[in-house]
Amino acid sequence: MTESSSTLDAGAAARCTFRLVLEHDTVEAVQRTVERDEAVLRRTEAAGAHRRSVAQSLLELHAERATDAARDTARTLEAIASDDLDLIVSPSLPRDVVGRRHGAPSFLVARRDGASTSWLPVDVHNHFVTNEGTGSFLASELATPLLAEATARTGRRLRKGGAWRVDLLRLAHHHRHLESLGAAGAARPFAGIVDRGSTLWWFALDDAVDEASSALALYDARFAERVALLAATEARNAEPDLPRPGASWWHRECESCPYRVFCHATLAATDDVSLVRFTDGPDQTLLRAVGISTRRQLAAISLEEVAHGVATRDEPSNAQTPSGIALGRQVHDAARLVRRARVEVSGSLLRLVDAESLDARRRDVEIDFDMESYNNVTYLWGAFITSRREVAGIEDGYRSFAEWGRLTTASEAELFVAFFDWLAATVDAVLAAGRTVGLYCFWEHAELAQVRRAMSSGVLGLPTTAELDAVIGAPLIDVHELVTTQIQTAGPAGLKVVASAAGFSWRDEAPSGEASMAWYEDALGDDEVLARAATARILAYNEDDCLATRSLRDWLEGPAHDLPHVEDARLADS
Ligand code: SF4
Repeated sequence: MTESSSTLDAGAAARCTFRLVLEHDTVEAVQRTVERDEAVLRRTEAAGAHRRSVAQSLLELHAERATDAARDTARTLEAIASDDLDLIVSPSLPRDVVGRRHGAPSFLVARRDGASTSWLPVDVHNHFVTNEGTGSFLASELATPLLAEATARTGRRLRKGGAWRVDLLRLAHHHRHLESLGAAGAARPFAGIVDRGSTLWWFALDDAVDEASSALALYDARFAERVALLAATEARNAEPDLPRPGASWWHRECESCPYRVFCHATLAATDDVSLVRFTDGPDQTLLRAVGISTRRQLAAISLEEVAHGVATRDEPSNAQTPSGIALGRQVHDAARLVRRARVEVSGSLLRLVDAESLDARRRDVEIDFDMESYNNVTYLWGAFITSRREVAGIEDGYRSFAEWGRLTTASEAELFVAFFDWLAATVDAVLAAGRTVGLYCFWEHAELAQVRRAMSSGVLGLPTTAELDAVIGAPLIDVHELVTTQIQTAGPAGLKVVASAAGFSWRDEAPSGEASMAWYEDALGDDEVLARAATARILAYNEDDCLATRSLRDWLEGPAHDLPHVEDARLADS
């Protein structure tokens, strides 16, 4: 090991191993594709602002016991050696060349054991870590950040989505780094995450994660794997005749990776089965173990066999077991993977039902609606009415209910009341005229969660549960479910993906829910011209989202009939 050996950052253990190889490869340098993504920039800026705000609060709250190391290594080491400090904000740890680590947490918290002091790493993240649940977690406020003062917060669970898993791997990295400096102490390895709400959650890194290994054991295994690959890459850099270590495989991380163009082209050249979205590492191993390494091979698998495999999941498979049955027994959601492979190979969306069974759930009067939120608070409900049979008093077109002032739980609920009153009156008028009515949204869980939030707010004017059910009970139709139960897509069926595939286009050049948050900030800004333009942009975007769900019904009623059926897209094995 030399001083020039590369070291790995705190995120390395969570990232793709092959990315690490490409990052350090000097023999066949691969061009990176870096696009300016407004949503990513916005997230990065918001996270930086949150980190700075937490650091500032800690320094103000603990003026005597905290120091700002300002990412200076000498100041950090001096502070670590001090007995007078509880907090080291913005530390910088010296590169650990032997352990091949670099990086530093957001801050360090002192833990005292008799006369000795050790340091616990804490990272600040702009996401929440826990939800309401049935578990209990240790937590602190910024005013009392020592682990010894932490208290149990009951009625919580870790949030779905797993951002905390990556957070814990980063903290394990910092813990091992502190260990290399002799600053981690011998007590249980605790580390903390300050969440978006500035609560400091404490985790024992040797606790089991998902009933499997601990964060620390997981980190150690993953980090060792990456260090070995790094060493092999450096060996090849010195001796270019050696083969490049590792290989690409397509997974979720690839979609935003700077090497995605290179890896996709490499995998497409061999029709690699990982291009069927999305499998994880163990699924890839299982697929290959049953002899499936290309998309075409997966597309050729019998869905009947897969169904039989799922039904006999507890039975063992051996070399004689047909691939489809083995797949159904071992691979999660194998039938969907096979169907997605058929979409990939045929180059077309596929029908899951007979053409004559396609149902667009049309109604005499159709109301497509959508909401926009900022920081989890809804500020806009929009709806587009389409009368397929005329009803007196019902006017076709877009209506919006917006709050451009301060967003609070109460203002959000009042906005819902205004929207609901209009919706209820419209539905009543249609039904009174003897016509049918449909309310359409995409992914109803989001809308219904906001409705539940409003209903629990206690503001004046809320409907009763019976009134609510009468309006958005039976008439509510989830267009996401409508599409995904009848049409097979190649991957996750988001509105932008499926409506675009069905021929709809948004007026905005870069429409996305995340981008709309930046527009919302502009809409509230002091620049009147910018604010007017941003408001118009949000309303047009919301109206287009409503029109997009309508376009999906038009498509289901028309062009979708011509799509191949998923069974007809089964290929002969190749
Ligand atoms: S594109 Fe995917 S496989 Fe390739 S380096 Fe990036 S994450 Fe890894």
